[in-house]
Amino acid sequence: MIFLTRKAEFSSSHFYWNDDWSAEENQRIFGKCANRNGHGHNYTLEVTVSREIDPISGFVVDWKE
Ligand SMILES: [Zn+2]
Repeated sequence: MIFLTRKAEFSSSHFYWNDDWSAEENQRIFGKCANRNGHGHNYTLEVTVSREIDPISGFVVDWKE
């Protein structure tokens, strides 16, 4: 069994807010994520695929798929 891992790093901005709550409640629940100008987080995503080597192609994964 072969394991292949692809790692991607990216940044994303967001804004959390519930109009049914007061500004104080939004701040208490969402903290810095309730900033109207948005703010960002950095993410790392890793995806691992495990398969046997295809005896015909020799591929573990056909990346075109
Ligand atoms: Zn946030």
